[in-house]
Amino acid sequence: MLNPADERLAAVLPPGVLRPVEDRYLDEPRGRYRGQGGLVAAPRSVDEVAAVVRACGHARVAIVPRGGGTGLVGGSVMGAGPAPLILSLERMTAIRDIWPAEDVLVAEAGATLEQVQAAARAAGRMFPLALASQGTAQIGGVLAANAGGTAVLRWGNARALCLGIEAVLPDGSIVHDLKRLRKDNTGYAIRDLLIGAEGTLGIITAASLRMAPPPAGVATAMLAVPDPAAALALLGLAQARFAGCVTAFELIAGQGLAFLTEVLPDIRQPLPGAPWSVLLELSLPQGLAPDEALAGLLESAMGDGLVTDGALAQSGAQAAAFWTLREHLPEANRRIGAISSHDISLPLSEIPRYIADAGAWLAAMGDMRVNCFGHLGDGNLHYNVFPALGRRREEYDALRPRVQETLHQMVVDRGGSFSAEHGVGRLKAADLARWGDPARLAAMRAIKAALDPLGIMNPGAVLGPG
Ligand SMILES: Cc1cc2nc3c(=O)[nH]c(=O)nc-3n(C[C@H](O)[C@H](O)[C@H](O)COP(=O)(O)OP(=O)(O)OC[C@H]3O[C@@H](n4cnc5c(N)ncnc54)[C@H](O)[C@@H]3O)c2cc1C
Repeated sequence: MLNPADERLAAVLPPGVLRPVEDRYLDEPRGRYRGQGGLVAAPRSVDEVAAVVRACGHARVAIVPRGGGTGLVGGSVMGAGPAPLILSLERMTAIRDIWPAEDVLVAEAGATLEQVQAAARAAGRMFPLALASQGTAQIGGVLAANAGGTAVLRWGNARALCLGIEAVLPDGSIVHDLKRLRKDNTGYAIRDLLIGAEGTLGIITAASLRMAPPPAGVATAMLAVPDPAAALALLGLAQARFAGCVTAFELIAGQGLAFLTEVLPDIRQPLPGAPWSVLLELSLPQGLAPDEALAGLLESAMGDGLVTDGALAQSGAQAAAFWTLREHLPEANRRIGAISSHDISLPLSEIPRYIADAGAWLAAMGDMRVNCFGHLGDGNLHYNVFPALGRRREEYDALRPRVQETLHQMVVDRGGSFSAEHGVGRLKAADLARWGDPARLAAMRAIKAALDPLGIMNPGAVLGPG
């Protein structure tokens, strides 16, 4: 039985676009939010997306854009207010065009990141963005969230890989801007406004994306380091030796390895018991053999006391096993059950002091465990706090708000960000209202009001309710 607003939508939209909502559209990975029933629209073309948006404007029905649903801040799940229309891009999955010689491809928003990577590979190229969720996350969602991942150090985040965009604005107009240009200084960058807007300013329907030639060689190593300061010094050393070739530099805390042992004992650990380790990946040009490159770096780093032990991947399979370890850290965290999780970034030189100060503050507050890991090369840490062994997370319910607030305040005080790569969504809207620069927030609200005067586009996400 449709409500009157949904009946009005059904009357004007092409047959087959609307269907009743199913459970899979209402979930999000961490189970913090639950969406509500109503209808799902799954358009097949940009014109059908525009028709849906126009119809929702007339019927005053809110739209929640939905990609793969892997976002970690509740951006694609609206649990409060009148039931929205969920707009899924799942039927728009085509790779529309590919120009290998220009290193450009055009993908529709519903193509998964993995499909885009495969299309680039089939053309003898690569699409460098990589996330553990890439089998499900869609290119539209990746751009709407401006996702980061493990290769940002070399390639930048999603924004840096997007040359042009096709999108439907909240009034139903279509922005046709699928340019393949590296240079185009022709006024305001609407593309960049939509990237990172988390579906609050329009629907991304396609994007032209940068590819790159695959590297001649890849070198991968797990290196044990005494502490985060040594890890940063190692990063400097690697950058100096292999300018522009350091693709990934991931920090892993000993606590993360202990969690793997506790809940995922089948994951192979090359350096068990290391207090801190780094997963390093170099993308090398012709003429530089991976094992020689790594051996030289290791010798120098051990001489400087920056590395105490190391495992160098001798094959693609071994490199993949190192990455499997890294990619299972979030799953281990999920199984242990965090008191609170923080996706933060800091100026690089502030990181050792932050880790020390935050750890000391938490130790003074009570008995807790910290798993701090992440994309150290980008200054991005996943700083997650867990109950002491044998205790339940519910025992920390009263403490949780204080932990969250203090850890974010310590980030802000050091010039960092309380959301490095996951976005704001609904989870961090209050944090943005609290810590966002007032003039920047006012400009964001003015942009939102100008483009979406009816407030139908993902209400409550990013700027919060009202
Ligand atoms: C195991 C795991 C690992 C992850 N690792 C990383 C990581 O390393 N780095 C990182 O940055 N993130 C990571 N994420 C988070 C997540 O995968 C990314 O944010 C991803 O970009 C979300 O894409 P999605 O298609 O699932 O979008 P959704 O979750 O469906 O949506 C995300 C936001 O974008 C909006 N949206 C979706 N599609 C569109 C569209 N076409 N037009 C306009 N708005 C749209 C939604 O309304 C929502 O606000 C991880 C998540 C998981 C579960």
